Amino acid sequence: MQKIKNTYKKSKQTKKIVSIVFLFLLLSCIIFGVTACKANIKSQTKNVSNYSLSLDFDDSTKILKGSQKVNYINPTEIALNEVWFHLYANAFSKDAKIKPVSNLYKQKAYPNGEDYGYIKVNSVLVEGKSQEIKITEPDNEILVVKLNSELYPEDRVDIQIDYEILLPNCLHRFGYGDNTYNFGNFYPIASIYENGTFQHDAYGNNGDPFYSDMANYDVTITYDSIFTLASSGKQSETTLTETGKKKTQIKANVVRDFAFVLSKRFQVISGKAGKTTVYYYYYDDEYANDSLKAGIDSINTFNSLFGEYPYETFSVVKANFIHGGMEYPNLVYISDSVESKKDYLNVIIHETAHQWWYGLVGSNAVEYAWQDEGLTEYSTLMFYKKNPSYEVDVKESLNASLSSYLLFSEICTSVYGSYDSSMTRNVNSFRGDMEYVYATYVKGVLFFDNLNELVGDKKFEKSLKHYFNENCFKNASPLDMISSFERICKTNIKGFFDSWTSGKVVLQNYK
Ligand SMILES: [Zn+2]
Repeated sequence: MQKIKNTYKKSKQTKKIVSIVFLFLLLSCIIFGVTACKANIKSQTKNVSNYSLSLDFDDSTKILKGSQKVNYINPTEIALNEVWFHLYANAFSKDAKIKPVSNLYKQKAYPNGEDYGYIKVNSVLVEGKSQEIKITEPDNEILVVKLNSELYPEDRVDIQIDYEILLPNCLHRFGYGDNTYNFGNFYPIASIYENGTFQHDAYGNNGDPFYSDMANYDVTITYDSIFTLASSGKQSETTLTETGKKKTQIKANVVRDFAFVLSKRFQVISGKAGKTTVYYYYYDDEYANDSLKAGIDSINTFNSLFGEYPYETFSVVKANFIHGGMEYPNLVYISDSVESKKDYLNVIIHETAHQWWYGLVGSNAVEYAWQDEGLTEYSTLMFYKKNPSYEVDVKESLNASLSSYLLFSEICTSVYGSYDSSMTRNVNSFRGDMEYVYATYVKGVLFFDNLNELVGDKKFEKSLKHYFNENCFKNASPLDMISSFERICKTNIKGFFDSWTSGKVVLQNYK
């Protein structure tokens, strides 16, 4: 059944045997792209920056002291005189003009009244030489590190940044609630240099305004012994310090960010999905085994749909969080405010899909949020198609998406006199949370479904495998995605993408 009407139509002896089998397998891999991505973690570790973080958290003051060494590799094609770092934690400071929480969510984010946090940079050293601390707009969210001399492409420089972070009482990516202390986007992370500048978009309240390169992380966290720690990467042994605090060492190679969560209430269960150990950190979950199973089923399903998840660990973490969930490499938050079991499992599946679309294949979520959110939402529906035991009617869900999108655009037109139906827009340019959600998630899902319908299931899945294999560990542009579909479908598909993302496609209910 066609749900969306538009101008597009469906374009209608032992060694020898071993060698032949090997050749066949090799050809299959080349033609169908059924293996993991072209590159592997081991080969990539040499090509990325190295972050070494030594962190000490004090629960009584909610202050995290950090000493961070970055062995930064110049990933650009020009010589750099400076390197910029995002200081996202400053979006939570009292003086920030662009707030990380919209008015709609204020009450929920600050159950005890508005509270503030910050990151204060105490010193910057470049190759051991002290540098001026230059922090700039927007909202003191950028640290500009001047280099001692020009850094040529692929050359490296050692930058050390020491800082102090205050965690606000805020149920957000960065902040704490009654049950969890969330450390997402808390440390200085190198900005991407693109189109002649380092990216410096503000941390607003729409979308996930993050964009980063892969790096290796070597992290030591010291924290009160009452806490249990969930983190990106693989934790090695935890020891006790002289003062009785826990000290955990973690390695996370070739990931595009590092996050952790502390809780005094965490229980942990785990299981296997392929080569990955899936952990579920939770409190108050009578369906804990089902939640863990959703994480395991998601990794298994997306392994076979897109390509193998190359990491050893993946943690699904229940958290105090205002929205449904949040993705980080090897770790996702699932909000404890999600009420029904079905919705909770849905968030787990969605956030796990992000391990592919954001985690492994990165994209600019500030400019092209549909590229990861739309595809992640659609991947969630692909999961349901492959896992009927979850009892989600995909057609019904798509119809509901279309109806609600049409209703929303109708309401906007009557209120504002017009409705901007384009999907490619900077996250900070949307008129509010709802407009962002409808343009990227809801319209995103309708777009990918229409594309699936146009090219058929087989080619659609094959194109996504190709997209994954070609762009794994990199940041992909919309053109990279288009190129995978064009390559596999052997047809010009850019016009189709452009019509949807520019808002030209006219949607109407199926009758
Ligand atoms: Zn998402």
